[in-house]
Amino acid sequence: MKLTSIASGSDGNCIFVGTQKTKFLVDCGISAKRVEEGLKELNLKVSDCDGILITHEHTDHVKGLGVLSRRYGLPVFATGKTIDAVFAYKNLGKVDHGLFHSIEADHPFQIGDITIEASKIWHDAADPVCYSFRSGDVKASIATDFGDYDEYLVEKLYGSDILFVEANHDVNMLQVGPYPYYLKKRILGRKGHLSNERCAQLISDIATKGTKKVYLGHLSKENNYEKLAYQTVRVSLHNEELPLEVAKRDAVSSVTSI
Ligand SMILES: [Zn+2]
Ligand SMILES: [Zn+2]
Repeated sequence: MKLTSIASGSDGNCIFVGTQKTKFLVDCGISAKRVEEGLKELNLKVSDCDGILITHEHTDHVKGLGVLSRRYGLPVFATGKTIDAVFAYKNLGKVDHGLFHSIEADHPFQIGDITIEASKIWHDAADPVCYSFRSGDVKASIATDFGDYDEYLVEKLYGSDILFVEANHDVNMLQVGPYPYYLKKRILGRKGHLSNERCAQLISDIATKGTKKVYLGHLSKENNYEKLAYQTVRVSLHNEELPLEVAKRDAVSSVTSI
């Protein structure tokens, strides 16, 4: 299984995950051109992919979906409510509704040699989910855009060999920063975004000795920076060994291959 991020942050998200045989994009919140360029760096083409999985309908996750879907006709997978919300997105343009496949959280499905499972997360969207991928005995999980988590999510993500998780903001930076009150309240809320500190707790709840890589992603441009996210998580993990990397905002991150 291979995983890397093509772009990650409040401006746009797109993650690649796949095996030799089966390949997916998770979210398409950057332009189709940037997706093409990112995949090219990985010696891949969009047409090599078997589908696009959408976590939720926010712009930074679906901005490029219309163009990419028209250009390549890839199947799109999302929950029914997310699909409805994506269709309502004003910049989507005309898309072939037949390409959209409705999935349900906690109902794993198989495509090629990958079993995919969506799990519910707390976020201010129609029906947001995160995804886990299993192939053979390898598990990779991608979870961004949630304000908090509970035992359910820990159980779903537990034991991931590769984990991509949100470290959105530093609480102090957000509190003293320029955002208006309502926005601060939204981000800090249960359905907002995960702080560096809470992200560290989640990782220690999920990671096992078998965890081979953790990416920190979806960093806020205004309320976080790479070094701070990395240090906060590293220090509170009490684990020098765990390979940790901050996913790049505007470029392809390093590839983890197991
Ligand atoms: Zn987002
Ligand atoms: Zn969001």
